[in-house]
Amino acid sequence: MKVHEYQAKELFRKFDVPVPKGGVANTPEEAVRVAEEIGIFPVVVKAQIHAGGRGKGGGVKLAQSIEEVKALANEIHGMTLVTKQTGPEGRLVQKLLVEQGCNIAKELYLSILPDRETAKIIIMASEAGGMDIEEVAEQTPEKIIKVYIDPLAGIQGYHLNEVAFGLNIPKPALKQFGKMLRSLYKMFVQYDCSMLEINPLVLTAEDEVLAIDAKLDVDGNALYRHKDVQEYRDTDEEDPLEVEASEYNLNYINLGGTGNVGNMVNGAGLAMATMDAIKAAGAEPANFLDVGGGADAEMIANGFRILLSDKNVKGILINIFGGILRCDTLANGVVQAAKETLLSIPLVVRMEGTNVEEGKKILADSGLDMITADNLKDASEKIAAAVQ
Ligand code: GDP
Ligand code: MN
Repeated sequence: MKVHEYQAKELFRKFDVPVPKGGVANTPEEAVRVAEEIGIFPVVVKAQIHAGGRGKGGGVKLAQSIEEVKALANEIHGMTLVTKQTGPEGRLVQKLLVEQGCNIAKELYLSILPDRETAKIIIMASEAGGMDIEEVAEQTPEKIIKVYIDPLAGIQGYHLNEVAFGLNIPKPALKQFGKMLRSLYKMFVQYDCSMLEINPLVLTAEDEVLAIDAKLDVDGNALYRHKDVQEYRDTDEEDPLEVEASEYNLNYINLGGTGNVGNMVNGAGLAMATMDAIKAAGAEPANFLDVGGGADAEMIANGFRILLSDKNVKGILINIFGGILRCDTLANGVVQAAKETLLSIPLVVRMEGTNVEEGKKILADSGLDMITADNLKDASEKIAAAVQ
């Protein structure tokens, strides 16, 4: 789960990681109040959305006076911010972070990630931080250093030195930098993070380090043990259909691309295999909805409705292996939803497993207009032909 910059910085403060003075605002008026509390200029007005690239998109601006804060807050709050990471539709800005500006001498890049290949935690850092880090990674990858940490042994002094020297941290800032990196690592592990990124980590003219941006992703599977982070969830930043699905305990993933086949499956592995088969048949999946093992007819009906309300979907493939979820339960759910919502797009159904004959009979007796398939290859070819 992603959190906002201001929330990540709240956690940073708990771990004594230096961040600028400031506060979040829900309205332009609140932004002015935060700036008045800071009392020194410049202050920075920053759009809070779950996407990066805000600076280049016009979502991060410096103000030299209260009047300017007011003008910028009114401009940024309520704007639809388009950045490299939001897609062309952009994101509505509903929150602002107002912070004390700082005297930037150098912008560094720092991130912490789990590395699946080595089963270690990796710290990535670069002296060439700031808004062009993507280009650095592409054109001069040697400018990014990587330090691997064995999670069982934890972070050691030599790791801290390796990163600090790789970043050319000046001597007066070394001690503070080491302390900060140790704290960040501790936080990363303690909060089950799947990504932590500070870009830029600033070296000020006063030889201090300061995190002026913060991106944090907490592993959704570990959220149950972080009540404070659960409260950071901002459903305004999520796909509305994904939010609705999660309310029904369904896993719905919008793939975001140009695909037009909606998928209902049970189990993540079957979802992957089904999408591969759709692609092999020459079509593109738009999403998948994993109804899991214990779904009842009501949940299936809700899931089917969610698939139908995805505007990109021009046809639906249901591929279910009945185990704990019985095929007749599935069929009842599909019939219920299809009758309520008037199914007007092609539907291909492939089922196997527990109570498959009953399931097939329910579908056949329902009078629903659908195409049945005998196996996965047959099913994916039929849906590909139907959406063409
Ligand atoms: P992003 O574009 O979404 O990654 O947003 P950032 O928080 O990284 O801000 C973008 C850029 O704004 C940074 O790379 C800085 O150059 C600049 N910036 C942010 N805060 C300050 C500040 O306090 N003072 C100054 N001078 N520049 C800032
Ligand atoms: Mn940034």
